[in-house]
Amino acid sequence: MILQWLRKEVADTFLATVREMPPMSVPPASFEAGRNQHSSTKILKELLGEVPKDALKLLGITGMDLCIPILTYVFGEAQLGGTAAVVSTARLRQEFYGGAPDRPLFLERVRKESLHELGHTFGLIHCRSGECVMHLSNTVVDVDAKGRNFCTYCRTVAASNAGGGSGK
Ligand SMILES: [Zn+2]
Ligand SMILES: [Zn+2]
Repeated sequence: MILQWLRKEVADTFLATVREMPPMSVPPASFEAGRNQHSSTKILKELLGEVPKDALKLLGITGMDLCIPILTYVFGEAQLGGTAAVVSTARLRQEFYGGAPDRPLFLERVRKESLHELGHTFGLIHCRSGECVMHLSNTVVDVDAKGRNFCTYCRTVAASNAGGGSGK
């Protein structure tokens, strides 16, 4: 299962304990009928109400296609320096583009976008380095091209924002 795999990837990256929560339904109010997509901002709002008391961050993973008013789609959205983030797997699958399923590639994309959105919750903005997972990705081509981890700079900033001190 993808969540089980992702949990370990996130835990290894942030050196944190990661728990999987019971599935939540996508809030009906987030559906944008005219676009046949869901508002990532409204899903974020819903997630914020579900953050366990002992949790630092909450990452939602959905198969629904997400959007915000000014963009045709987004791979995810996060509160900058906040608590909640959401990632959509809809456009990370090769099938979406008419290709054959490619599970390793799909997982790699989910990993990158999950770390990216979580990075935003740790106060990180987009990074100029193409080697860094915080590099902006508008398309899956961008997702595939960028690095799979945080650059040293972003890692340091995230760690200091997390208040974790050394080694995080
Ligand atoms: Zn971003
Ligand atoms: Zn960076």
